[in-house]
Amino acid sequence: AKVWSVKRPYNGEPTLDDFVLTEEVLPPLKEGEILIEALYLSLDPYYRLFPVQDGLPGEQVARIIESKAPGFEKDDLVCAHAGWRSQSVINVNRPLRFGIKVEKIEEVTGLSPSLWIGAIGMPGVTAYMSFMERCDPKEGEVIVVSAASGAVGSVVGQLAKLKGLKVVGLVGSEEKCRYIKEIGFDQAINYKEENISAALDSIAPNGVDIFFDSVGGYISDIMYGKLRDKGRVLLCGQISAYNQPQPKVTNWSMTIVRKELEVKGFYIFSPVNVPEFPRVRQALIPLFQQGKLKAKEHVTKGFENMPKAFIELFSGSNFGKAVVKA
Ligand code: NDP
Repeated sequence: AKVWSVKRPYNGEPTLDDFVLTEEVLPPLKEGEILIEALYLSLDPYYRLFPVQDGLPGEQVARIIESKAPGFEKDDLVCAHAGWRSQSVINVNRPLRFGIKVEKIEEVTGLSPSLWIGAIGMPGVTAYMSFMERCDPKEGEVIVVSAASGAVGSVVGQLAKLKGLKVVGLVGSEEKCRYIKEIGFDQAINYKEENISAALDSIAPNGVDIFFDSVGGYISDIMYGKLRDKGRVLLCGQISAYNQPQPKVTNWSMTIVRKELEVKGFYIFSPVNVPEFPRVRQALIPLFQQGKLKAKEHVTKGFENMPKAFIELFSGSNFGKAVVKA
């Protein structure tokens, strides 16, 4: 098996030199185990926050090449938190990362199996649960979604549109602006070129009801100022801070106080949320099958390109859910 690991703690942004590829001989299978080969590997921003000595985390869609586990047959597809590995031996009864066991992938007509690590997997389920079930969205409200073209943000924006909200997305290029409008966002702001504050004053003169925050940093500073009194924030991620040695000082706290904002965190891997995966996936599947939601993947070819594809998340070079096709 080929295995990627990190040589030393990251110093700021991850660099290609931080990663090392090694070969590993896998042991013969014992009862209850399967040997899997990665087909699609997920790249998610949260990997940057993991202590490097714990090994690189990550989910993959894989094919079973040998099985000694009843109910798991050769050639079945599975989804597993197996990390950055081309092949793995997995005990089907043991929880992997975050207490999640390997899961068999059912074939869903019209949907690529790779979506199990994307739109109907962790990022899609995050979007559905955090927006639909935590934000209390109401028709006519204004929502601003950051990292709007990505794995989580694009699904949040589309769900918000289905719920009848006015949906504004923040993205880092004109191409991404065009795309999010194509999939239903009402307005797109290119935060690298435009003045976010001025743009929002004309798009939402009465202020913003919900801010779905995946980015943090100066964008959040601006956004908290644009929220109406008693506005809501769903704190999903802070990607702009993941490579910083220490969180930046912000002005949010007093804005939260003065506007009596409601700020809610959401963590997909909490023990309360993990058991909800199958239910939420079943809610998402028909929406994608019927074309009510669209999924965009950013596919990088080759297991050897895992580090490059991961680093790209922090510059916005990915356009859609980042996936490596092994
Ligand atoms: P994306 O597919 O959205 O990829 C990351 C995108 O973030 C980039 O394409 C880039 O888009 C944008 N970005 C990167 N750096 C910056 C920056 N400094 N400032 C502004 N934008 C930036 O990733 P995901 O959808 O997988 O994840 C989005 C967020 O959600 C992350 O913060 C992630 O950690 C979080 N998350 C949280 C979960 C939870 O349970 N709380 C679960 C899953 C994800 P652009 O070109 O537009 O700048």
